Amino acid sequence: MVTLTGVKCKLCRREGAKLFLKGERCYSQKCPIERKGALPPGQHGQKRVGRLSDYGIHLREKQKAKRVYGVVEQVFKNYYKKASQYKGETGKKLFQLLETRLDNVLFRSGLTISRSIARQIISHGMCIVDGKKVNVPSYQVVPGQTITLTPACLKLEVTKKALEQKGAIPAWLKKKAVVAKMERLPEKEEMELDLNEQLIVEFYSR
Ligand code: SF4
Repeated sequence: MVTLTGVKCKLCRREGAKLFLKGERCYSQKCPIERKGALPPGQHGQKRVGRLSDYGIHLREKQKAKRVYGVVEQVFKNYYKKASQYKGETGKKLFQLLETRLDNVLFRSGLTISRSIARQIISHGMCIVDGKKVNVPSYQVVPGQTITLTPACLKLEVTKKALEQKGAIPAWLKKKAVVAKMERLPEKEEMELDLNEQLIVEFYSR
């Protein structure tokens, strides 16, 4: 499996926004952005804060989305290509493809505390979709499918912590005890972060 490397908090600081890559820590005062603000990393970070070019604005929005969903460039570009082959709005389809990845569905339904932990759980064969183990984080969930975790996974501290949290679950997902169900495809407004899909579409169609 291809994974992102590097320190997660640096990615947030580079994008100048909280991307919620570390689970519980992101919602606490331990988040460096809460303590120091969203300055870019490095000794000369402050100097890098300034007006971005038009290209820079498009690039940063694409990078932000890529980092939120934890996918590398080639994978993200493939999602864009796939989305552009559908009828209708490419940006909307792009986000539906990203939101319906199994790792994202696990996270958004509150069964894990972050997308990166969701990826680990899935890769270790601890996620069950419609009664069958699925070990591919990019697996595309479709409406009507149910998702749960193996008994061994439910005993993990990290899972117990996630299940204790009472965060809001988007309306396109339903959760009963430890079983989540995708009711329908998500709408753009139901994304966790306010990303501008049009900037990303324009970046790739240049
Ligand atoms: Fe780090 Fe999470 Fe804060 Fe981002 S939001 S800087 S990953 S603690």
